[in-house]
Amino acid sequence: MIASARLPTVSGQPAIQVRGLVKAYGSLRAVDGIDLEVQRGQCVALLGPNGAGKTTTTEILEGYRQRDAGDVTVLGVDPGRADRRWRTRIGIVLQQVGDLAELTVRESLAHFAGYYPDPRPVDEVLDRVGLTAKADARGRTLSGGQRRRLDVGLGIIGRPELLFLDEPTTGFDPEARREFWSLIASLRAEGATILLTTHYLEEAEALADMVGVINRGRLVAFDPPHALGGRHTGTTRVAWTEDGAPRSVETETPTALVAELAARMGGEVPNLTVTRPTLEDMYLDLVDDGPGQAQP
Ligand code: ATP
Repeated sequence: MIASARLPTVSGQPAIQVRGLVKAYGSLRAVDGIDLEVQRGQCVALLGPNGAGKTTTTEILEGYRQRDAGDVTVLGVDPGRADRRWRTRIGIVLQQVGDLAELTVRESLAHFAGYYPDPRPVDEVLDRVGLTAKADARGRTLSGGQRRRLDVGLGIIGRPELLFLDEPTTGFDPEARREFWSLIASLRAEGATILLTTHYLEEAEALADMVGVINRGRLVAFDPPHALGGRHTGTTRVAWTEDGAPRSVETETPTALVAELAARMGGEVPNLTVTRPTLEDMYLDLVDDGPGQAQP
């Protein structure tokens, strides 16, 4: 809603378009030819091992790093040449943010609200990130998880059309993580586009319309979570008990096998289980844990 109301000239265009993105640090191609498209209103999660190139990719999209090659458009603009107005349309939650230790939570939010043309009311943001009770606490007195909530609050205070979240729930307790997930779901329901990096597969599964897996600077999969890497059509394990002994078979046609078992056994199949690969199984198949690839 927010996005379409403000962007009549570029509605219909993807929020993010990336073609052939390359970024090298010396001989290391940290990003090695990534193509990526994020539609408006989508939540996309980038997964990948440490050093895979997620942060480098994200920071290029945010306009914080220059690319070596490739075409990048974010909200219709090349982030390498973006201006202040473009910057007010995106929200960023970095892995580490600058020090606001001496300001209270409310003062920090009010300070950042001043940078945006149409900020959310500070009290609304306090409520949405669960920091109302800490509004008058100084930054230095917050716990790690509370500090991270403040980071998220600072990221959404400007009512961004596009929100970048770099490992947003690292250090959250399980309850705070669930609360954060509902916050993201509500922002998405309002029309915001969200790109997040995470190491938590269940976070990607809970939040993302599309999951991108980056390995050694390349996008090796980009699918909805239920279909990642062919998960929905891949081999399924069917297990049951027959003649008192456990049996199991891997099959690509589990329904046919279960029907055959039911017919053979004349009804209920004892201890029947049908197990598809989990998101974690597929993810681990797609990545290796080596460092980024050095090029000759
Ligand atoms: P993590 O999950 O650990 O946050 P990541 O996928 O975000 O990892 P990046 O931070 O993008 O990975 O790093 C990709 C590769 O580029 C790594 O090998 C990293 O050491 C290297 N790298 C990143 N920034 C720089 C830099 N400024 N100078 C040199 N090398 C860098």
